[in-house]
Amino acid sequence: MPTLFSPTRQECMKRILYLLVFVMILQLADAQFSKTLFDTYDVYKFNGISSKRMKHAELMTHLEALKQSLGTLVTIKQIGSSAEGRSINLLTLGSGKTKIFLWSQMHGDEPTATMALLDILNYIALHKNSAEVKKILSETTLLMIPMLNPDGAERFQRRTSQGIDMNRDALRLQTPEARILKATRDTYNPEIGFNLHDQDPRYTVGENGTVAVISLLAPAFNVERSDNAVRLRAKKIASELTLVLNQFVKGHIAKYDDTFEPRAFGDNIQKWGTSTVLIESGGWKDDPEKMFIRKLNCVGLLSVFYSIATSAYEQTGTQPYENLPMNTKNLYDIIVEKVTLKFSDNRPSIVVDVAINKEEVKDSTGTYWKGRVVDLGDLSVFTAHEKINGEGKILDANDFELGDILKVDDVRKLLK
Ligand SMILES: [Zn+2]
Repeated sequence: MPTLFSPTRQECMKRILYLLVFVMILQLADAQFSKTLFDTYDVYKFNGISSKRMKHAELMTHLEALKQSLGTLVTIKQIGSSAEGRSINLLTLGSGKTKIFLWSQMHGDEPTATMALLDILNYIALHKNSAEVKKILSETTLLMIPMLNPDGAERFQRRTSQGIDMNRDALRLQTPEARILKATRDTYNPEIGFNLHDQDPRYTVGENGTVAVISLLAPAFNVERSDNAVRLRAKKIASELTLVLNQFVKGHIAKYDDTFEPRAFGDNIQKWGTSTVLIESGGWKDDPEKMFIRKLNCVGLLSVFYSIATSAYEQTGTQPYENLPMNTKNLYDIIVEKVTLKFSDNRPSIVVDVAINKEEVKDSTGTYWKGRVVDLGDLSVFTAHEKINGEGKILDANDFELGDILKVDDVRKLLK
């Protein structure tokens, strides 16, 4: 006899169906939110960032401006100083039970996510009365440290001013910057963390040769790379992020190697109980300033905050993340294909592919993009942002050297 507490089989099926429809509606709403964030980005992005080489003083000016527009929605608190005395600040927004901790630029030359965090703050300021922002701020507490390594940012270098890779200092905690990160995590014990980095812009996705615009990792907490509840939640969040980004850059998202690194922060923060996702901003054709990748970070993170607020990500499972192809390295910026390399002495001419990567070179007058010859020979297994047909053309071996910077601003000028 069915009662209120023991529903009939038919009633059970009905309830499951309702639940499925409810989940589908949530997922559709999520997709719509992401699409709107992507389509309207130019309206709400934070204007005024000079370049990806933004330094600490500029960041502080921007945070001050955002504090004015966010009002009581944000508190900004100095939680310590870098080795050279620059302030490191924690921003807190929202009052929800799920704490989401984000830290950017522990490597000083990896600024993409710092710019995206400013976009996110500006979005919240402009849409504080929207249903999505209200939901995010009532269900979650956002804890952000933008630019954890301001001394490195000052020099646009990976390491701290004391020459330490902070991401290998999670155990010894010798650097003041690493101690600040650890202390903040321990103070708040957040459920969820985002470890925000940039990777080599020439990483590719699996074997298909397309550039990896974003690579994701739910870091391992032990050598065996086991799963526990903490890491599984990180994988679900990484899956949710994958589905969001697939709407815009499908085929350009890779999975970062999950070999356990006992000294790294991501791995340890996972071990200490915060479900952590590493976001590595990679490369994109004609985007050396990383402005498109900054947009993807902003859209991806805001979308995932909302999924966490509605708990929709819990239904996503781990497969979208698990199925991502691995990060690989099969890409050069330019390949000149099948050009004839001619020598001025008696050595015979040979047909080669020439790979050139663009890099930033600094001198007393500024920073410039220059081409460096990085490989020579049969490069048919590699892809490139740009392939130049060299068939029938001659390259004089005296005009360039493997490993050297090109003397001309365009390699085409060397082809005869
Ligand atoms: Zn990094």
